[in-house]
Amino acid sequence: MNLEQYIAIVPDYPKPGISFKDITPLMNNGDAYKYATDQIVAYAKDKQIDLIVGPEARGFIIGCPVAYSLGIGFAPVRKEGKLPRETVKVSYGLEYGSDVLTIHKDAIQPGQRVLITDDLLATGGTIEATIQLVEQLGGVVAGIAFLIELSYLEGRKKLQGYDIMTLMNY
Ligand code: IMP
Repeated sequence: MNLEQYIAIVPDYPKPGISFKDITPLMNNGDAYKYATDQIVAYAKDKQIDLIVGPEARGFIIGCPVAYSLGIGFAPVRKEGKLPRETVKVSYGLEYGSDVLTIHKDAIQPGQRVLITDDLLATGGTIEATIQLVEQLGGVVAGIAFLIELSYLEGRKKLQGYDIMTLMNY
């Protein structure tokens, strides 16, 4: 399936010069959403994944159906102040700004094999921070899956040594 037809490209959003890739048309189409989910499930199948971890908010949209399909759990990574119990945290830089990400301290058991999911790899800051959270808790990052990679931002350079899959490239 050609998934690119379900990505809306929005110039100058959220600020001038940014070409935003909107995945909501893909989510809106059952066949496309299922196809994309199934591709990530197939990627995860031989990796003995114990848990999916995804950053808010679009990491949930990608990760939760994959977790359901594999019959495993999902742990959310959220901005500071959003998770109600004890967390670990890390600060990170983004394509447009900087922030703090957190995860519940009991979300990952040491040695658990984790698949990280998000909609899009831009500079790699979000996923670099998510990797740090997983590893702080003793998790093993066994794979990272994105719908979209913006290759020209070279986010992969921050993720060297990790197993990465992407379904679309710009
Ligand atoms: P990075 O940290 O620079 O790799 O940025 C990736 C994060 O920013 C992801 O969580 C994305 O959801 C979000 N993001 C950045 N650019 C876009 C875009 O063009 N479309 C959708 N999300 C984006």
